[in-house]
Parts: sequence; C-alpha cells; structure tokens
Amino acid sequence: MTEMLLRYFRTKQKEAQTEKIYDTQCPFCSMQCKMQLIEQSTVTRKKYQTVGKDNPTSEGRLCIKGLNAHQHAVHTDRIKQPLLNVDGEFQAISWEKAYALIEEKFSAIQSEHGKNALSVYGSATITNEEAIYLESLLEWHLERSILITMAAYVCLQLHQQQRKHLGWTGGSQIV
Ligand code: SF4
Repeated sequence: MTEMLLRYFRTKQKEAQTEKIYDTQCPFCSMQCKMQLIEQSTVTRKKYQTVGKDNPTSEGRLCIKGLNAHQHAVHTDRIKQPLLNVDGEFQAISWEKAYALIEEKFSAIQSEHGKNALSVYGSATITNEEAIYLESLLEWHLERSILITMAAYVCLQLHQQQRKHLGWTGGSQIV
C-alpha cells in the first residue's frame, strides 16, 4: 500500500514539474543585456536561473549583477506596498494614502522653499514610458525642467573601457 502511494505521488510530482523560459533583459544598468529567465516549478517550490542570450551588444554575456537580477523580484523581503514611518515603526498603507501624502509634502516643501527645492533622479534603466511620466511629473506638477539620468553615462564609460582594454563589453544600446 505504501509503495503504491509513493509511486502515485512521484508520478503526480513529475507531472507537476514544469519549466518556463522568459526572454527578457537585465534591469540593472543602461546596457540592458539580453537574458532568459528560467522558472522551474515543482509541486512545492519554484527555482529560478538566468542565462545570457546572444545579441550583438553584450554577445550573450551577463555580469554578476545580471546573473542574480531575478533575486530582487523573488526575494521574500521584497517591499510590495508603501510603508509609512510612524514613530520609528513602518506601517503598510494604501497607494492612495501614499500618493496623497506625497502630494501634501511636496506642496508644503515648494510653498516654503520655492519650486527649485524639488527635482527627480531617474535611473538609466527606466523605460521610455517611465521617462515620459517622470518628465510630466517634473514639468506639469513640480514645474521643474531638469531630469537627471546619471547611471547611463557611468555605464557607457565602463563598457567603452571594457571594449578598449579587454576586447569585449557587456554591450550598450546607447553607443
Ligand atoms: S552589464 Fe550587468 S548590470 Fe548591466 S545590463 Fe548587463 S548584466 Fe545587467
């Protein structure tokens, strides 16, 4: 009986084991190296692995950050909703409340110190759509016109030096 049950559960486990492959790109720097995220599911858990995907810029290579990029998304401590610091303790709040608080505090800062008291720092890895949202936040809501995306420049320099001295690069979509 035990043997029969074990065989049954092992068969079910094998049936439930699946592997999905997602074509994607590393989100960490402006090189945006192409990669595949492999998700292996068993009955009780999921395992992830990233591998570089061949492309003209990074030639299929990933740096150590890219190889571990997925770990931020699947980490159990990942923050998934806004937290408000109340007397040193972080309390989860709704997005509506968070936006209302941000608007209130931004308005108070600009009323007291002028429009130039606020600006926006945008990462080199934001999408075109996110850049447009940031720009409209600046221009229409904060009435500023400076958007800083410093990381793009830093990464570009890094990869140009890699190509020059090592003969290969993680690749760049900027050059
Ligand atoms: S160079 Fe590294 S961090 Fe930058 S996109 Fe490629 S894998 Fe990601």
